[in-house]
Amino acid sequence: MNNKKLLIVGTMAFDEIITPNIASGKILGGAATYIGMAAAYSKAEVAIVSVVGNDFPDKYMACLRDRNIDLSGVEQQSEGVTFYWKGKYHKNMNKRDTLETQLNVLANFNPKVPHHFKDAQTVILGNLDPNVQQQVLDQLAPNPNRIVLLDTMNFWMDIQLNKLLAVIKQVDIITINDEEAIQLSGKNNLVQAAAAIHAMGPAYVIIKKGEHGALLFHKEGPFYAPALPLEEVIDPTGAGDSFAGGLSGYLATQTNSTVTEIKEGILLGTAAASICVSGLGTKALQDTNTEGFYRQLKKLEQLRSVK
Ligand code: AMP
Repeated sequence: MNNKKLLIVGTMAFDEIITPNIASGKILGGAATYIGMAAAYSKAEVAIVSVVGNDFPDKYMACLRDRNIDLSGVEQQSEGVTFYWKGKYHKNMNKRDTLETQLNVLANFNPKVPHHFKDAQTVILGNLDPNVQQQVLDQLAPNPNRIVLLDTMNFWMDIQLNKLLAVIKQVDIITINDEEAIQLSGKNNLVQAAAAIHAMGPAYVIIKKGEHGALLFHKEGPFYAPALPLEEVIDPTGAGDSFAGGLSGYLATQTNSTVTEIKEGILLGTAAASICVSGLGTKALQDTNTEGFYRQLKKLEQLRSVK
């Protein structure tokens, strides 16, 4: 029996985002924040393991707590400041440059998985230091039906590749964007990249292609989910994490995680990502309730329907 628990580890952050039209100033961000908000549309029991500094406002914690997300695994350090990331998008918003990453309290973080989530059936290792991802895996109680997902980015490939590869070996599903799949695999073609990443461990390799949707590679062949065409993208930050949140939240509610549930989950992830990019930072996710989320999913079903 699935216990419907989803354990998320990832950053909680201050982000500063520059798009061709907006300079955000410091706002709420972080991989775990986006994953949690998107996963909260499901009926999963969601918990986050992360770390913040003494500068992290209560109102940001409340944004997550209000969605019934268990924050007992979020450590607030009395000394030190929160992880900070600054990114700038090109005119073509599929492209962005990281201008600054300050690890701050993340640099010396020893995660503690809350006792009541050690048996979580679904675990998502969101983007952060692979040493922390490993420490979370090490604290879990054995569960033969557990599904582990992983999301990462080039920053960790550049500085912690061996550790990252060791973690990748232990996961069932990896979500990664196209450029990062090419960097990780050393291949120049996505089919070859997926095969090389599959050989590193994960049975399911999901390659995210921004506004061009997502591809799932697995032993029965590829599956493609288009992104919802949008009139306006305000800010793509967090799209990949929201995708992972929608997917993992759905899987946490299912008895099985076969390829059928994973494909369904990809559609929910796609719906969450399309909501995310329609506002600055986490705003659109915050402003959209579960009904709004399912309306977005309906639009996606209409996009794919021939009737
Ligand atoms: P995405 O747009 O889905 O790639 O995710 C953006 C989020 O990832 C932002 O809210 C950042 O705070 C967070 N982020 C950026 N760089 C890193 C990093 N090196 N490790 C962990 N999280 C990061």
